[in-house]
Amino acid sequence: MAPSKWQSDRVGQIEDSITLAISALAKKMKSEGLDVIGFGAGEPDFDTPEFIKEAAIKAIQAGKNKYTDSPGILELREAICATLLADHNLTYSPKQIVTTVGAKHAIYNAMMAILNPGDEVIIPAPYWVSYPAQVILAAGKPVIVQTDESTEFKISPQQLEAAITPRTKCVIINSPSNPTGMMYTRDELAALAEVIVRKDILVLSDEIYEKLVYTDVAHVSIASISEEAKKRTILVNGVSKAYAMTGWRMGYVAAELDIIEGINRIQSHSTSNVTANAQYAALAAYTGSQEAVEAMRVAFDRRRKLMVKLLNEIPGVSCLEPQGAFYAFPNISSFFGKKSKTGTVTDTASFCDLLLKESLVALVPGIGFESDTCVRLSYATSDAQIEAGIKRLKDWLASLK
Ligand code: PMP
Ligand code: GLU
Repeated sequence: MAPSKWQSDRVGQIEDSITLAISALAKKMKSEGLDVIGFGAGEPDFDTPEFIKEAAIKAIQAGKNKYTDSPGILELREAICATLLADHNLTYSPKQIVTTVGAKHAIYNAMMAILNPGDEVIIPAPYWVSYPAQVILAAGKPVIVQTDESTEFKISPQQLEAAITPRTKCVIINSPSNPTGMMYTRDELAALAEVIVRKDILVLSDEIYEKLVYTDVAHVSIASISEEAKKRTILVNGVSKAYAMTGWRMGYVAAELDIIEGINRIQSHSTSNVTANAQYAALAAYTGSQEAVEAMRVAFDRRRKLMVKLLNEIPGVSCLEPQGAFYAFPNISSFFGKKSKTGTVTDTASFCDLLLKESLVALVPGIGFESDTCVRLSYATSDAQIEAGIKRLKDWLASLK
């Protein structure tokens, strides 16, 4: 749509979130009676565990329906500190935690709090779609560093150092990664941290998928590499993925006090606080039994293996084994130049458009993550849908000429 005279220049600098747009399109097609198989949605298909829902209902009934402190209720921030200590041996005080309207809002707040106009943020590609948009909204400049399968889509310390300029404020590290599912090892993070500390920049560590890991690569927070690394880390996490709570909108930031103060100031004038009952739900999630998290992880792992096996059985498709999150990111570039019934596959966008139109399978094109050779499939769906959807994909690919 052409920019309207009422739209700010800011709006014109970004696009709608492609991940949310594809999930919405697949839902709409389904509601119109089309038998769409959706691999677009980046959210668990499970419902929020019962005890978490009950905690929110109890909070509502007990009258916890007022504003809370802007950074969140103290009990929740204490529970987050206890979790960071238990999981990562990281010591934060509740004053260093702000709860936010999802991890997405945590990153947005952080960018708003640290960037001056023109400040650069290094973003390794393929990246989660909202990072560059959020940097731009905060008047910063995204600096994209491209990676590919040869390094498991991970940035090297040399690449990081080469991208740093006097305007660099921050680098974003997302492990496990959306969209690639790859994870940085402790040694790899230590090598990146050495550059970050020496060059004195910040690192925003997006750890939203930390509980969804499947191989012998353990999730490590870059903040736990050293005290110096911790001082420069803006740690982002939340309950959306691990506890199947995407709709509750509850995330958090843990960081040094000056950064947290800035975020609090911004939050106090924008959202005030996370919805009170969602905070009580998150408190239950962090302090209650973690059995449901493990059960979901086990199911995702089974689906991961199934999807990756089926993808790699398709001639012309190659997929690295994802170690975490719930995405497969196969390379489909060998089909570029081929013709389908109604068009020609020229890039990942035309690949996904034609596949959806002709075979009713929804994937996210890699171009949305700045990687125009791969497509993203979420395996947060049933085994039956995975089998049926990949069969359709395979048959469609076999029909290309
Ligand atoms: N970071 C990454 C890498 C994500 O995939 C998502 C999910 N959209 C988020 C952050 C935001 O999560 P939330 O639902 O908590 O806003
Ligand atoms: N994280 C999910 C995804 O990448 C949810 C959609 C979004 O917030 O972008 O698909």
